[in-house]
Amino acid sequence: MSLEANDPNRRTWIDVPKNSDFPIQNIPFGVFITRDDIITIGTRIGDKAIDLGALHQLGYLEGIEIPDDMFLQDSLNDFIADGRKTWRSVRNRIARIFDIENKTLQENPEHKERVLFGLDEIEMQMPVHVGDYTDFYSSKEHATNVGKMFRDPDNALLPNWLHIPVGYHGRSSSIIPSGLPVRRPQGQKLPQGAEEPIFGPSRLVDFELEMAFITTAANHIGEPIPVDEAENHIFGMVLFNDWSARDIQKWEYVPLGPFLAKSFASSISPWIVTLDALEPFRVEGPKPVKELLPYLKSTGKKSYDVNLEVDLTPKDGKPTTISRSNFKYMYWNMSQQLAHHTVNGCPVNSGDMMASGTISGPTPESYGSMLELSWRGENPIKLNGGEERKFIEDYDTVTLRGFCQNYEVRVGFGECRSQLLPIYKS
Ligand code: CA
Repeated sequence: MSLEANDPNRRTWIDVPKNSDFPIQNIPFGVFITRDDIITIGTRIGDKAIDLGALHQLGYLEGIEIPDDMFLQDSLNDFIADGRKTWRSVRNRIARIFDIENKTLQENPEHKERVLFGLDEIEMQMPVHVGDYTDFYSSKEHATNVGKMFRDPDNALLPNWLHIPVGYHGRSSSIIPSGLPVRRPQGQKLPQGAEEPIFGPSRLVDFELEMAFITTAANHIGEPIPVDEAENHIFGMVLFNDWSARDIQKWEYVPLGPFLAKSFASSISPWIVTLDALEPFRVEGPKPVKELLPYLKSTGKKSYDVNLEVDLTPKDGKPTTISRSNFKYMYWNMSQQLAHHTVNGCPVNSGDMMASGTISGPTPESYGSMLELSWRGENPIKLNGGEERKFIEDYDTVTLRGFCQNYEVRVGFGECRSQLLPIYKS
């Protein structure tokens, strides 16, 4: 099926502000609560949220074979499970309904009243019920920086890293949408020079600049997904802040990897941008340094050129952009990650979320965590208001942004914004 929704020449009758992440060529999917307290699946053009449940009920999706209640749900899991043909049909239809040449909804004020919402009239929710969440570790620059800091500067990468898209199974219950605050966690830490751990608030709370992809029900148990088919099973992507507590992490992570240092919260941007919408922004990723095993050899442009930015804003302060990176720096692409994840026969379900791992670029300004930006706290970052930061302080807000841009169109993710609150007190 053609991706006519991507037509860069299409104009919409909805007002789209200059440099908006949400032109009619984007058409992301999300879940929101409306002013009438109804939960619905929707999309967004410019600064208007579009109620797809209402659009469907009013007959605008006629001819697309989907159940009557497809969009009257509190998650996108069923829609995603319906597969790529459905995603494409619906996205193409939305593009046509909101095309400036199409007068049907445009000149029906009663229907518009039911379908369109201002962003201040809605509250974004989690777009999917995340059954399983996996976090990869796929940025060579990030893995190298961390290896230099905590292990051997001359052998920063562990021997498996260039052969395996390293990852671990994370916790899905603490993935929350942008806008919700995060509490500083407490836990066990081993103070410098001490032999016994202490309990207390993490003093080294960090963000991790990541993106995550969302899968459909891709395979049955026992069936691997070939690397060249993997993208057929990827619905779309979000921005992902994998909040981390470095002091808890350092004490707990040997031998089985991160646990409570990561599971207290991860924040995501609420609109899932489809892989179809990102099609014009395909690029080749880095060339493999080592010969890969056949099941990981991917061909063609399997990476995406997504500009990424991180702002840190102190309480009542001004924002400072502390990092500028790009998703294209990832050494392992999503196809390789999904092929590797399933090569042992592990099944992947609709709504599963797979995060990239911290995305650091080649230069210090492009590092994707405070750990790297301040180099373990040795080089504090200067903020616009004159303050300094080694890690995240109480009431700081961390905002991730991501967008793709070519000469014709800009397609973006909006924001993933969350504030760190002090420790929980009963
Ligand atoms: Ca991570």
